[in-house]
Amino acid sequence: MLKRFISYYKPHIHLFVLDMTAAILSSIMGIFFPMITRNLLKFYIPEKDTRMITIAFIIMGVVWMFRAIFNFIRVKWGHILGVRMEADMRKHIFQHLQKLSFTYYDNTKTGHIMSRITNDLNMIAEVAHHGPEDLIISVFMIIGSFIFMFYFNSRLAWISLIPLPFLLIWGFTLGRRMKAGFRDVRARIADMNSSVENSVVGIREVKSFAKEDLEIAKFGEVNRLFKKAKERMYTLMATFFTGMNFLTDVYYGTVVGGGTYLILRNQLDAADLISFILYINFILDPIKRLINFVEQYQQGTTAFERFTEIMDIEPDIKDVANAVKATNVAGKIEFKNVTFKYDGTKDIVINDISMTMPAGKTIAVVGESGAGKSTLVSLIPRFYEVDEGTIRLDDKDIAKFKIRSLRESIGIVQQNVFLFDTTIRENILYGNPEASEDELIDCAKKANIYDFIMTLPDGFDTLVGERGVKLSGGQKQRVSIARAFLKNPPVLIFDEATSSLDTESESLIQKSMEELSVNRTTIIIAHRLSTVRNADWIYVLRSGKLIEQGSHEDLLNMDGYYKTLYTRNLL
Ligand code: ADP
Repeated sequence: MLKRFISYYKPHIHLFVLDMTAAILSSIMGIFFPMITRNLLKFYIPEKDTRMITIAFIIMGVVWMFRAIFNFIRVKWGHILGVRMEADMRKHIFQHLQKLSFTYYDNTKTGHIMSRITNDLNMIAEVAHHGPEDLIISVFMIIGSFIFMFYFNSRLAWISLIPLPFLLIWGFTLGRRMKAGFRDVRARIADMNSSVENSVVGIREVKSFAKEDLEIAKFGEVNRLFKKAKERMYTLMATFFTGMNFLTDVYYGTVVGGGTYLILRNQLDAADLISFILYINFILDPIKRLINFVEQYQQGTTAFERFTEIMDIEPDIKDVANAVKATNVAGKIEFKNVTFKYDGTKDIVINDISMTMPAGKTIAVVGESGAGKSTLVSLIPRFYEVDEGTIRLDDKDIAKFKIRSLRESIGIVQQNVFLFDTTIRENILYGNPEASEDELIDCAKKANIYDFIMTLPDGFDTLVGERGVKLSGGQKQRVSIARAFLKNPPVLIFDEATSSLDTESESLIQKSMEELSVNRTTIIIAHRLSTVRNADWIYVLRSGKLIEQGSHEDLLNMDGYYKTLYTRNLL
């Protein structure tokens, strides 16, 4: 894991070196300031040596200036280093996420993926530069200051060491508890957000069931927990800061007390005591940094572990060693004894199915909801890997093709079409980004959506989704059909909408589908009688098994399950 983390420093090593050099130099320069003050108080001022006083101030001025420059470099380039490493990680995790299969997405919450990419990576970026910076600054400043203190007066230096462990212990333990309190508050905020979101999104259900009181009560509980977490967090915060301030006061008290005692015994002079007080002042900041570092380091490692966890997931569906490109696909599809079940479930969803879909024909797959129709067709583009048996495209096992080329040969029109939150044009061009304007218009016309698009304020450039016009289910499906026309694949999978579309949409979709299915293998998960009737062949699925097949008339004559579905309107 460490090796992987270090690998992210490599491309930005120059920034890392710059950041660390600036951190070291600014700490070293800081250490000299109390020393110069001491010399002023001890020698130059009593001796009224104006030349040395002037030189001391000039040196201090120059040191301050350089320190400011180094601090600027550290803060600016340190953060930029973190940002660049974060961007690299974000790029890698996103690329990796694109490779992972449906199985991963079936089993992972979107919210989790989001928080990996945003919160976790942000945390790692912070640690990536603050970690080494804080460590170096603290080590240099604390050790450096003590070297000088021991050099000036070892007795007082020993005394100055006494309060240090108390400060560190308090800082580490209480600091950690306070941060845990912060985390708890963040978790409660997330709970509260999702509670509000649930109620707002489901407001129609809430109102139609007249369950406002229940929602208010549920929210009351979430709100109470949030309030409690915040109160606890503030209590911890008060304890932490009061304790730190108190111990800082004790620190000063110990040094001044010890110093007074030594002065009274003529073992120290006032100038030395002042320089000690300045050093104490100087090391307090690095101590706080060190405390912060330990906490941040832990959080950063956990975040990086989670990042590594995702990066280590091997995409379970990938090209075999000598995969070939699918070219000039005719579109014959064959299932041979295919069996499949979803990962982590017991039920066999596709049970020993063998079927043939001849090139260029229209095949309907019918069956009750849950019979396995969608699963069956999702095996063709290898969205999931079959457990047993083979699927062949043009007499070649689909596992032997390069996945990309296989998927490029297959067009899919889903029942619940997903449109990207952008313009209609971009949504259609997704089928073929290189298409010309004429081709775009032609496909929109064939999908019977062109006239509708022309009624929109910005035509093809109208935004859809949250930020733009809301399309009806039928309109979305026609946009998706236009997309499929533009892609022009030899194999087309069409999941007919079960929910009743308005009759106009329905007949428009019907018409465009008929046109789209010309000269390509078309597999339709069919619900409408007209589609089923027009299909060249119908496969009937029941609980994952293929139980009947034939033309509409054949199947009706069989007087079997298909006829039951048909007469009960269950198609
Ligand atoms: P149909 O399309 O005929 O309605 P599906 O293929 O969608 O049927 O579903 C078949 C069975 O597989 C159902 O029991 C369903 O619960 C299950 N199933 C569907 N998708 C998944 C999934 N991603 N993970 C686990 N089980 C699933």
